[in-house]
Amino acid sequence: MSDCIFCKIAQKKVPAKIIYEDELAIALEDISPQAPVHTLVIPKKHIPTSLDIREEDNALLGHLFQIANRIACEKGIAKRGFRLVMNCNPESGQAVYHIHLHILGGRQMHWPPG
Ligand code: AMP
Ligand code: ZN
Repeated sequence: MSDCIFCKIAQKKVPAKIIYEDELAIALEDISPQAPVHTLVIPKKHIPTSLDIREEDNALLGHLFQIANRIACEKGIAKRGFRLVMNCNPESGQAVYHIHLHILGGRQMHWPPG
């Protein structure tokens, strides 16, 4: 999608701190980190919200989780614990309408979330 910031990052039209890339997905450091580790895992396919995930995307979604797990292990937060978040629509706080998994960790998380 031409005016989507995450599509532009995936197409290297906008710079970002990309730490992982394969044919289906990228992972990049969040520009405004909310925890010592705050990395985003993004499919290259433009899917606006989690409500738009279709059966054909099932393997892709599993792939995003595998990438997130690997990054959590590499960053040393897997055993301590971390949070995976995918916001959906305005009341969740979703700001970028191209799905992404937030990997948040490196500090104690709180529940309920804000
Ligand atoms: P959400 O509110 O779930 O849509 O999350 C969007 C996230 O993307 C926020 O944590 C932003 O800080 C982050 N973000 C927005 N623009 C960029 C960018 N250009 N590079 C990296 N992270 C970004
Ligand atoms: Zn997009």
